[in-house]
Amino acid sequence: MFSKILIAGRGESALRILRSCQELGIATVAAHSEADDHAMHVRLADESVCIGPAPARQSYLDQAAVIGAAMITDVDAIHPGIGFLSENAEFADKVREHGLAFIGPSAEHIRTMGDKIAARTLAKEIGLPVVPGSAGALSSPEEARELAKECGYPVLLKAAAGGGGRGMQVVESADELERCWILASGEAEGAFNDGRLYLEKFIRDPRHIEVQILGDTKGAVIHLGERDCSIQRRNQKLLEETPSAGLPPEVRERLLTLSVEAMQNMGYDSAGTLEFVYGDGKFYFIEMNTRIQVEHTITEAITGLDLVREQIKIAYGEPLALTQDQVSFTGHAIECRVNAEDPETFMPSPGYVRSYHPAGGAGVRIDSALYSGYSVPIHYDSLVAKLIVWGQDRDHAIARTIRALDETVVDGIETTLPLFRAILKDAEFSSGQYDTGWLERSRKAGRLVLSEG
Ligand code: ADP
Repeated sequence: MFSKILIAGRGESALRILRSCQELGIATVAAHSEADDHAMHVRLADESVCIGPAPARQSYLDQAAVIGAAMITDVDAIHPGIGFLSENAEFADKVREHGLAFIGPSAEHIRTMGDKIAARTLAKEIGLPVVPGSAGALSSPEEARELAKECGYPVLLKAAAGGGGRGMQVVESADELERCWILASGEAEGAFNDGRLYLEKFIRDPRHIEVQILGDTKGAVIHLGERDCSIQRRNQKLLEETPSAGLPPEVRERLLTLSVEAMQNMGYDSAGTLEFVYGDGKFYFIEMNTRIQVEHTITEAITGLDLVREQIKIAYGEPLALTQDQVSFTGHAIECRVNAEDPETFMPSPGYVRSYHPAGGAGVRIDSALYSGYSVPIHYDSLVAKLIVWGQDRDHAIARTIRALDETVVDGIETTLPLFRAILKDAEFSSGQYDTGWLERSRKAGRLVLSEG
């Protein structure tokens, strides 16, 4: 097994990775920015190296600084974490060129899946259904107009380099096309330095369903079930659950089988997630993440596995420890993403945490880098804690999540906790009948009343 790993991330996800390393007996190095001098994972790592100032461009995204830190601390692998360089093919290549293991798939797989147009093409080749739409990047609004006529409105303009729901515009009719084109390409250019757009049929009110995959370097691939991530704001996930409450058993079976076959065809050899939208009884591939995702924890809750541990073992060259038949799914799990944000406006709310009290008790897991007296920096993602709750069935998981939300205290900053209390107590949510537009529709209709608990 690896003897020392550098963790090139921050926040709760860096801590998450550190914990798996410790359990595998692997020493850890935290590569961190100046703003994270006092971060929990830096305190708990065996060694730490400051790789630059607070802005991510000068630290967490600075490839030379990260690799330099790995060389001077003499690690044998880099775990790229969840955001930042985790889906950067050039970085994966460079890490390997320096004789280090990159804990993730091949650079070629990262590159192809990172470009959403290339990913659509590959998905078709490996047998996945994709949303009807463009074959390649669109060259002009006129070309988009022609294609939209074929697909039928509404359509969705999406950024080829997309991520985090940015550079995406729903076009309801031909006269909106020009305006949406300018908005989407402008946003894509600003966020990704790449204004290329493509077009997909807009599936009205779908569910977002994704499949967790594990593949090894010997060609074995298994799935660990699906996750329903339809509770979203601005196309970003806020709450996830598994199993999905809205997927008929035969559709679920087909989705999981097709996903495994596709990954076998591709020769995928790490942890990864295939994302789909599911509407009108059909599912369509939208993208693949070639890394561990924030919401992997609910899969861990119902399978009893440690996905980061598996990911590290695969990167070391070990075969998968389980066959598909050996994976068992027990109960139901829900994750709430506790963000340092105003729960009404979703404006970031970083700052000093006066006191922090995490929930406890049976079936409750909190992954967080918070502690009383910690200051949430303004420079990064607003996720500060994940509340992951397991129950024997969905009703039990909901009741337990409500109980755990009421126990959790984060004082000093605004968080999304009050919004989760409202969602979990909502009758429509409990019925399981929701889609990706549900949260925003419910908020507009005033049906979610926020409470401090
Ligand atoms: P990003 O990489 O920016 O997160 P995705 O392609 O994963 O973008 O899509 C994010 C969300 O946008 C999905 O979860 C879904 O809610 C919505 N979405 C994406 N594609 C479609 C589509 N063709 N029809 C309807 N909704 C979609």
